[in-house]
Amino acid sequence: MSANDRVLVTGAAGFIGSQIVERLLDEGRDVVGIDCLTDYYDPARKRRNLERALTNPRYRFVQEDLVETDLAALLQGCGLVFHEAAQAGVRASWGAEFDIYLHCNLAATQRLLEACKGRDIKLVYASSSSVYGATADLPMRETSLPRPFSPYGVTKLAAEQLVDLYRLNFGLRATALRYFTVYGPRQRPDMGFSKFIAAGLTGQALPIYGDGSQTRDFTFIADIVEANLRAAAYDGPQYVFNAGGGSRVELREALRILERALGRPLNLDFREKQDGDVPDTLADATRITEELGFTPRIPLADGLAAQVAWTREMEGSG
Ligand code: NAD
Repeated sequence: MSANDRVLVTGAAGFIGSQIVERLLDEGRDVVGIDCLTDYYDPARKRRNLERALTNPRYRFVQEDLVETDLAALLQGCGLVFHEAAQAGVRASWGAEFDIYLHCNLAATQRLLEACKGRDIKLVYASSSSVYGATADLPMRETSLPRPFSPYGVTKLAAEQLVDLYRLNFGLRATALRYFTVYGPRQRPDMGFSKFIAAGLTGQALPIYGDGSQTRDFTFIADIVEANLRAAAYDGPQYVFNAGGGSRVELREALRILERALGRPLNLDFREKQDGDVPDTLADATRITEELGFTPRIPLADGLAAQVAWTREMEGSG
């Protein structure tokens, strides 16, 4: 192995981080993963996300908090960092929980950036479509003024800008990807499709917030992993990219597609929309297509079939 060949993945036990780790290992890379297994959702799920990677001798996993760990030691020999660690979730970010968002999304990012400063490192930051907010013109463009609509979105934008500061002031090579609703196997249990599938498999009533006319630009996990690898190799002038543009559908239509994947109807219970939820998201994918050559490949029907199959397998395995 030559110097700086190793890759650091933060949030390595999470939905997205764990699948970036596996793709890197499949490509023969040496990978270090860090995750403190927060209890935002059941840490047992995160341990399961780690299982496959841990069988690979090229993988080292560190269970620590980014704010407290010795990052300088962790970055030894690393030339590339995928920064996925965060407290996710829009709805939980109001009220007293905000401190956790400050810790995991801002303080953790600042510590990581300080440790990267002065090293030959490329950092890819997991940003979010939530930075655009509820009033953005559609499609959402990287050039439009970000106006987050939730405390979570504020922290994701602040961290995105913090990374940019280190890029501009200290020459850190960095790219931010604004993910648009990622789904697929291992999706977080608080996310829409995870809940819909869980309810669909048991026949439980499924609360839908709003009238179902809201639209989302859904992106399959393997496409997001691919966008990350392309961002890692990117050396051009742009900093931020929308990572989406695959399949924007109305929630009602997505539920119909899901019913087909499940092979049974859902028991829908429509309720008032929740604070912080944005009505629509749609990525303008021009920049990522032109600069990174990235186009999402997996249609919603195929991606949902994969997520349903994974959920069945996971539930079956206890
Ligand atoms: P996830 O919760 O499954 O994974 C995040 C992981 O980070 C968790 O396992 C958590 O334990 C870990 N973590 C949090 N704070 C930490 C800390 N201080 N030190 C060490 N580990 C810590 O979430 P995910 O859905 O995989 O999201 C990954 C990233 O993508 C996040 O930055 C999130 O904001 C961003 N994102 C996700 C989506 C999506 O649709 N899933 C959309 C937009 C942006």
